[in-house]
Amino acid sequence: MSVVRILSDHVANQIAAGEVIERPVSVIKELIENSIDADAKRIYIKIRNGGKSLIQVIDNGIGMREDDAILSIERHATSKLRESNDLNKITSMGFRGEALPSIASISKFTLKTRKKECQNGTEIQIYAGKIINKKECGIPYGTQISVENLFATVPARKKYLKADSYESSLINKLIRLIALAHPDISFELIDNEKTIINTAKCINEKFRITELWNNSFSKNLIYIQNTNEESSFKIHGYISKPGIDRSSKNEMLFFVNKRPIFSKLLIDPVKDSYRGLLPRGRFPIAFVFIEINPSEIDINVHPTKKEIKFENEREVSNSIFKTIENALYEKKESEIYPSNNNIAKAHHLFNYKTLQKESSETIQANDFSNIDEKSQNQTEDPVTINRQSLSYDTIKETDWKFIDTLNGNYALYKTQKGIVILNILRAKQRIRYDEIIKQFNNSKICEQTLMIPIQLQFDPILSNTIDKNIKLLIKLGFTLEKFGENFYRLISIPSYFDGYSLESLIRDIIEEIHTRSAYLKKQPFEFFLKFVAKKAIKEFYFKDNKETNFVLEILPKNLLNSLEPLTCPNGKKIFFEIDKREIEKKFN
Ligand code: ADP
Ligand code: MG
Repeated sequence: MSVVRILSDHVANQIAAGEVIERPVSVIKELIENSIDADAKRIYIKIRNGGKSLIQVIDNGIGMREDDAILSIERHATSKLRESNDLNKITSMGFRGEALPSIASISKFTLKTRKKECQNGTEIQIYAGKIINKKECGIPYGTQISVENLFATVPARKKYLKADSYESSLINKLIRLIALAHPDISFELIDNEKTIINTAKCINEKFRITELWNNSFSKNLIYIQNTNEESSFKIHGYISKPGIDRSSKNEMLFFVNKRPIFSKLLIDPVKDSYRGLLPRGRFPIAFVFIEINPSEIDINVHPTKKEIKFENEREVSNSIFKTIENALYEKKESEIYPSNNNIAKAHHLFNYKTLQKESSETIQANDFSNIDEKSQNQTEDPVTINRQSLSYDTIKETDWKFIDTLNGNYALYKTQKGIVILNILRAKQRIRYDEIIKQFNNSKICEQTLMIPIQLQFDPILSNTIDKNIKLLIKLGFTLEKFGENFYRLISIPSYFDGYSLESLIRDIIEEIHTRSAYLKKQPFEFFLKFVAKKAIKEFYFKDNKETNFVLEILPKNLLNSLEPLTCPNGKKIFFEIDKREIEKKFN
């Protein structure tokens, strides 16, 4: 019988490396987590051959003194965990004290590090776990680690690695995830001398998403936040608007205490909250950030900490479900379904409008009380009266039955008279446009303050226009602050713009004011309001306009609320009807 022996550190390190270090991306993960734990604000990562031949991570964190640097590559040396009791409240990324010695045991490993307050740095070179050189070095404060020829000492593991491009893609994906969770840190990834990721420090995750994905992607996200103050955890994040969905779960990302994790437990409630709003087999986009007391989770279930256990699973998944459902419902009311006025009111508007055309009365179009009264006194259906002159009778039908879409651009509806073909984009533009005008008319200008004000420089002529029209701009929802001759900061914009090419937007508006105000003496505000509203609906052209059946079913009802449901704000036809008789004629 063999004798029980305590493993040598070297063997133990190699075994631990087998558990923790599966491939290059695992090294990157450990090193970046150490940099984050060291309070780095900038992390630079360089790889070659998918990380197989070189991985380099450079940070500007707290660095280490010489003695700590030597200790850091000893097994179970960690500055983060003192007693086993601490295991219940882990707040740092690492805590096992295994990563550095493990990595150093299977590669050529160089550690350079310097604390800010120290003059000199320390450089330690290790090969296959053995220190081969230690000296002073001059480096900027922080820590630089190079890992060359990973798995050089364990060729068996090398066999399991895939093509460089595949290993690179895993690294790219991981860094994006970590960067998302830490918008306050700047990340740079250089792969075979090519810059793959370069993100500056951001104020919040939304900006990070914009940087890592793109503007039009982040514009289609809705902010979510749990409002239950009693719960022991906090949830916030971003989800896709209904109608924007994906064929895979790849963009359903979860973070617990800033750690990216994978969990079916969290995916299901997100999907469920969209029920009815997602086509079959499609997935929403979701970035969900959970902050929870470390004592209520177990992140130790997997050595690479991908998976997580919640003490109170049900409560967490319930809360995710409710948070998203609430956000979707709010959106339904305010954005996707712009008006929740009832259909009856829409009828009154139409009826009134048609009447108005005949009697040429002049009543304010937005005077609802008047309109209601007027139509209540009506004994005969005014739509019937005006059948000939305006042929609005199609609109009278509120029971348009959605059939299908055509080319994704048109929606087909069955009506009592026949079939309606509706231009989806134009219908949405009309609804949005009316909503904006209504918002202003009810003096409910909703503004949003920009997280980062946009700095603008104008020529002296336009600067003069701004100075003269600063009040008009504020009334339109744009706050510009002067901070020098010809220099301005754009501080807030109307809430219905989602931040897309704001600079060119504000320039267009100011130029328009400049050219038009010369001869537009009367009511220039209304004129510019329409101009701005038209700009806002232009954004629809750049959006993914695919809508769910659910949205298309109720689209006509929202359109009916408009004073001008037949044409979009640019004067183009929104829909037309093919009469059953016309169809019959075609067969004769
Ligand atoms: P753990 O992160 O689990 O503590 P590691 O082996 O990853 O274990 O690191 C060991 C120790 O080395 C850490 O606890 C920390 O004190 C130190 N260390 C590692 N990387 C850095 C870094 N980039 N900056 C400062 N200190 C570091
Ligand atoms: Mg670590």
